Parts: sequence; C-alpha cells; structure tokens
Amino acid sequence: MTGAATQAHDLHVHSTLSDGRDEPAVNAHAAAEAGLGLLVMVEHVRRESTHVPAIVAAARELDAPGGLRVRAGVEAKLLDDRGHLDCPDDLTGVDVLAVADHQLPSPVGPVRPDEAARLIDAGDVGRAEAIGWLIDAMIAAAHAHGGGRATTIVHPFSLLPKMGLSEEQIGERTLRRWALEMSSAGAAVEVSERWTCPSQAVARLLDQAGVELVRGSDAHRSDHVGAFRYVDHVLAGVDSWAPGPVVAGLS
Ligand SMILES: [Zn+2]
Ligand SMILES: [Zn+2]
Repeated sequence: MTGAATQAHDLHVHSTLSDGRDEPAVNAHAAAEAGLGLLVMVEHVRRESTHVPAIVAAARELDAPGGLRVRAGVEAKLLDDRGHLDCPDDLTGVDVLAVADHQLPSPVGPVRPDEAARLIDAGDVGRAEAIGWLIDAMIAAAHAHGGGRATTIVHPFSLLPKMGLSEEQIGERTLRRWALEMSSAGAAVEVSERWTCPSQAVARLLDQAGVELVRGSDAHRSDHVGAFRYVDHVLAGVDSWAPGPVVAGLS
C-alpha cells in the first residue's frame, strides 16, 4: 500500500462514459505513461442516470497496463444546503463519490452560478449567506456519504469566482470549521489542476486539520491525465503532505 507507484495518483479523470473525449482504455494508457499507480475514472451523474453499472464495469474490466489500478467514481453536484447530491440512490460498486460545487446549493435547491451572481448583485442573497450554504452543503454531504466508499470534495470553491466571489471571502474561522468537519468525516479534499483551487493557504489549513489532500486533474482528454503543475506547486508548499488512507484504500 505504500511506495511511489501507489502514491502517484489522479483521482479525477473523465472518459467517454460522461463528457470526456477519450475511451477509458486510452486514459488508462496515458496514466501508466505518466507513471501513475492509481487512476479513478470519475463520470458525471444525475439523479436519473442509469450508467453507473457501466462505469463500474468499465473500471473493473479494464486491462490496465503496468500495475496501474483503475477505480470507479461518480461526480455529483450539491443540490442544497443539506448536502443532498444529484446522483442515483444506488451506487453499488462505486469506489469514489466526488462531491462537486457546480451550482449554488441553496435551501430551495441548486442555483446556476450566473443566476446566483445576479441575486448577489441585487442584494437578494448575501455574500456570507451564499458562502454559508456552500460550506454547510459540503459538510453535510461529507458526513452523509461515507461508509465503505471514499468521498472526495472536488475542486472546492471553484463555484465562488463564477458567482463574483472569492475564496478569501470565506473567512478564516469558517474555513477552519469546514476543514475540521472534512477531517472528522474522513473526506478527502482535491487539489484541482483544471480549476486551480484551492489555494495553497487553504491546502495548508486542511493539512493542519488532518484532512487528506488528493490530486485531481479533472482531465477530459488523455493528454491531461496525471499532468500536474498547479497541484504540484500547491502540494510542495504543504510540509507534511503524503497520500493518506483514502488513496491507500483505493490502491
Ligand atoms: Zn466538476
Ligand atoms: Zn470533473
């Protein structure tokens, strides 16, 4: 469970099973070429999706090159501030549940970022209120969806700039509370190459709270699999960073 091979991972790659360009086998080949030991095929789902068994089967049946381990994941958006997710109830065989901040999880349901920005500009929704919904949603989802399946919070706070807000507006106190909740829930938090988030400061804060930081490219094409620049930069600034139980459990 240890060693460079299992430590080198990409926990967030899309294939033709959702909106990725390349077949799973092409992504797996690219992952092996990049020297990865662990690849998680993460595909978008919604409540009514029926392709979860196909995602699981594709990961299981893949003839992975050179000792690469391929696992199955689904990416689901937060729907509301209670942490409900836009995914089917039955996730049998899914190894990783990736929780995504694609829309603002308001008390009455998801709000598109452009609409959320308009509401915030108009003063109909407060900045702190919007940030509070997002934080509460992540915390509730992390606690609700453990149990035998890894939970990752992917590209955290990528939603904020889309709504005209920024990570700095979250506030230290709220960030610390969020980090401690992620830690107690055993959820891993992704450092995202595609969305260049979270910041190094937030990554450090998470690490200090005992949260496992994981690498995710959010690649939608094989040449982006395992190609990390931003992620390497962030993790280089986290003194004690090393893959933890989530990565080990998948390896
Ligand atoms: Zn996403
Ligand atoms: Zn994604």
